[in-house]
Amino acid sequence: MAGVLVYSANQGLALELITAARKIEDFVVAVSLNDDSLAQALAAAGVRTFKISNPNLVVGDTGAAAAAIKQVLDKENIDTVLLSSDRRGKELAGRLAQAIGAGCLTDVTAIQVDGSKIECQRNALGGATIAVQYIEGPKVMALRPRSYEAAGAGNGSIEELAAEIKDTGIKVIDFKPKAADRVNIEAAEILVAVGQGLSDEEKLADVQALASKLGGEVACSKPVATDKKWLSEERVIGLSGKKCKPQLALLLGISGQVQFTVGIRDARVIAAVNTDENAAINYMADYIIQADLHDVIEELNEKL
Ligand SMILES: Cc1cc2nc3c(=O)[nH]c(=O)nc-3n(C[C@H](O)[C@H](O)[C@H](O)COP(=O)(O)OP(=O)(O)OC[C@H]3O[C@@H](n4cnc5c(N)ncnc54)[C@H](O)[C@@H]3O)c2cc1C
Repeated sequence: MAGVLVYSANQGLALELITAARKIEDFVVAVSLNDDSLAQALAAAGVRTFKISNPNLVVGDTGAAAAAIKQVLDKENIDTVLLSSDRRGKELAGRLAQAIGAGCLTDVTAIQVDGSKIECQRNALGGATIAVQYIEGPKVMALRPRSYEAAGAGNGSIEELAAEIKDTGIKVIDFKPKAADRVNIEAAEILVAVGQGLSDEEKLADVQALASKLGGEVACSKPVATDKKWLSEERVIGLSGKKCKPQLALLLGISGQVQFTVGIRDARVIAAVNTDENAAINYMADYIIQADLHDVIEELNEKL
């Protein structure tokens, strides 16, 4: 079987997948589900695009999406699929792999073709190392966003496909926009990041004041956003957050687990404030301040 099928509901990510697919095969097909503008963009990037329109393809129903994509794979006799490794793409990857009897790898950061093998790079051991893995037989691989450049302009085509999709009973009642936090911590030159050492949410105002005085942004470890919900997930540094490269990272009450440090190890200068002299973060920090972070914040806010 020859050819690679790409699918992402997100146009930018779908164009990145085309670039990745062309590293594997020249013959690339794409799918759009109930999305005419995505179909146009895919065709404009030079791929043969199957446009499927069906009222049973409800947004968020990855089972229905998998059923639709399977029909294109069967029709074109393709058994290699690239999806985007975003939240919905990962769920779709598992469902589609199950539907076509394929192996499945998600969170792939790069692919390389070695003969008949498609070698996939993935972070392993919490980001401390990179594993190279490949699938034998039919394969579904989900690539992390921004692993490849978006494909440029080309001459593709659009074919409408009447796929059969069962009504799975999911009904969309309403769409609500996610509360936006437009911060881009990856672009910040100075980051003041807080961890679980911060005693309570009210103290965030002092952290924000310090970041503003330094001309930087507030960032955090994952539990501060996902468990405590004190800050948005846009501000998380690390394996499941952002990879940052600031000139200065002031880390307040962060222990320094590898899943965090993988996102800050490229900072030019790291200053860590921690009451524990044996905190793991001290092994990578340029400056270690063994102190209560609340005292340090207060003193810095007074002096700056
Ligand atoms: C698959 C996976 C992915 C993950 N991805 C991420 C990720 O992207 N980002 C991330 O951050 N984590 C991630 N984690 C979680 C990670 O393993 C750690 O649990 C997390 O980073 C710990 O956060 P923390 O350092 O804020 O909290 P803790 O580990 O609880 O550390 C708190 C620190 O504060 C210090 N402290 C306490 N009080 C004070 C005080 N008054 N003054 C100064 N210091 C004080 C303590 O000594 C301690 O070192 C992931 C985990 C898994 C399993």
